[in-house]
Amino acid sequence: MTQHLNLIHGEWVAGHTLAPNLNPSNLADVIGEYTQGDAAQVDLAVAAATAAFPAWSTGSVQARSDALDKIGTEILARREELGTLLSREEGKTRAEGIGEATRAGQIFKFFAGECLRLSGETLPSVRPGIGVEITREPVGVVGLITPWNFPIAIPAWKIAPALAFGNCVVLKPADLVPGSAWALAEIISRSGIPAGVFNLVMGRGSVIGDALVKHPGIHAISFTGSVGVGRRIAETCVQSGKKVQLEMGGKNPQVILDDADLKQAVELSVQSAFFSTGQRCTASSRLIVTEGIYEQFIAGVTARLAGLKIGDALTAGTDIGPVVSQAQLEQDLSYVEIAKSQGATVAAGGQRVACHTGSGHDGFFMAPALITDTTPEQRINREEVFGPVASVIRVKNYEEALAVANDTEFGLSAGIATTSLKHATHFKRHAQAGMVMVNLPTAGVDYHVPFGGRKGSSYGPREQGRYAQEFYTTVKTAYTLA
Ligand code: NAP
Repeated sequence: MTQHLNLIHGEWVAGHTLAPNLNPSNLADVIGEYTQGDAAQVDLAVAAATAAFPAWSTGSVQARSDALDKIGTEILARREELGTLLSREEGKTRAEGIGEATRAGQIFKFFAGECLRLSGETLPSVRPGIGVEITREPVGVVGLITPWNFPIAIPAWKIAPALAFGNCVVLKPADLVPGSAWALAEIISRSGIPAGVFNLVMGRGSVIGDALVKHPGIHAISFTGSVGVGRRIAETCVQSGKKVQLEMGGKNPQVILDDADLKQAVELSVQSAFFSTGQRCTASSRLIVTEGIYEQFIAGVTARLAGLKIGDALTAGTDIGPVVSQAQLEQDLSYVEIAKSQGATVAAGGQRVACHTGSGHDGFFMAPALITDTTPEQRINREEVFGPVASVIRVKNYEEALAVANDTEFGLSAGIATTSLKHATHFKRHAQAGMVMVNLPTAGVDYHVPFGGRKGSSYGPREQGRYAQEFYTTVKTAYTLA
């Protein structure tokens, strides 16, 4: 069994124990053993990053750009292999895994360019004879804490801008899916980046994540994950004066109006609610449908779900892979029961199923659940499930649809299916979400533009695109007497 170690100051270092990385499609398949670090290794990683920071942060931007470009090139060249590994450990289909690996490569390429585009401003002072310059400098040593659902893209969209703008990094990936992050770290270790600039410490969030967040040598924390963990991290960071960026949960609404193109509305709703097994923070989990199209829409979604193939993530033709873990499967199934107990109807799916490859309950497979007859105040419409579960809320008109869409503590992504320019335009302005989609799934975004939400979904500056510099740099204002 291959053992995968932590990367600290350019060396591969064993932690105190090893944990197996299991394939959620086939529990007999152990992908590898991954070391579990401890707080002492966090100390070593932060010390390595701190030592590397002065040279890296003031060094050649060409060297940074070359390294990021090299990382992106290798990821893209190995996208099939990395995408297969990703699907094997996380459970999204192989096509989705390859797509995610490709995205990771593109992100490194994008930030290879961004290194060279960091600009400042020169202004006249209000006082005569003085010049004012505004420049951006790296923040310092940043701790990156990532979730299991995008095991290579989310590490990539944090690591690439952190390094591009001259920071040093300690990455703590999700314990459930360390394989993709480890493979990425291995690529980074051969990119020409000096020892200590990038460090990987795998292990439990309650140990490694907590130690990072509390470490006095860490200047900023970028976290993606659940609301509960995120809010605790924010409190700790604020107390110690660390910069903090949180991307958290969603309860994303997809509005379908009477005038929508029915076929398009069905397809985009099924894709955004159920593809990637519904395990996307941007997944549509609330389908808000006006009365005139309601019956046809439900019939269309139900028919489309019946045609989806649930099975091993690596098998060609699979549409929906397994849920990531036993605990997540139990949570998903429990929300179906909660919905039923509050009066909802399960119109399709909602049960554990045997794998189509014939290995029985060897994986965490679940039939996508479409839950109808729900009302906005029910738990199924208020709490994030994070699985292949979508509920439907019937509304009278656009005004009610918008009100229901916004009636949530979350605000990540919101979608509308309509042929009305008036309603599309109004929705873009009034949906309380960081990202709005018109006739597109709520999930599925570009890498060169800002990503993030409002309300309980996000805290701090946006990720991705050139907006990433807000978090990974700090502004300096310099005055010079001429
Ligand atoms: P999670 O349980 O909050 O874990 C996220 C990361 O935090 C993991 O690496 C975890 O380590 C670590 N962690 C756990 N406890 C910690 C602590 N006390 N201190 C510091 N770090 C700690 O979330 P998840 O289950 O991995 O991911 C699902 C959630 O992520 C969903 O809510 C989803 O909506 C959200 N998400 C949001 C976005 C977005 O951009 N808005 C994108 C993707 C996912 P372990 O691996 O050991 O648990």
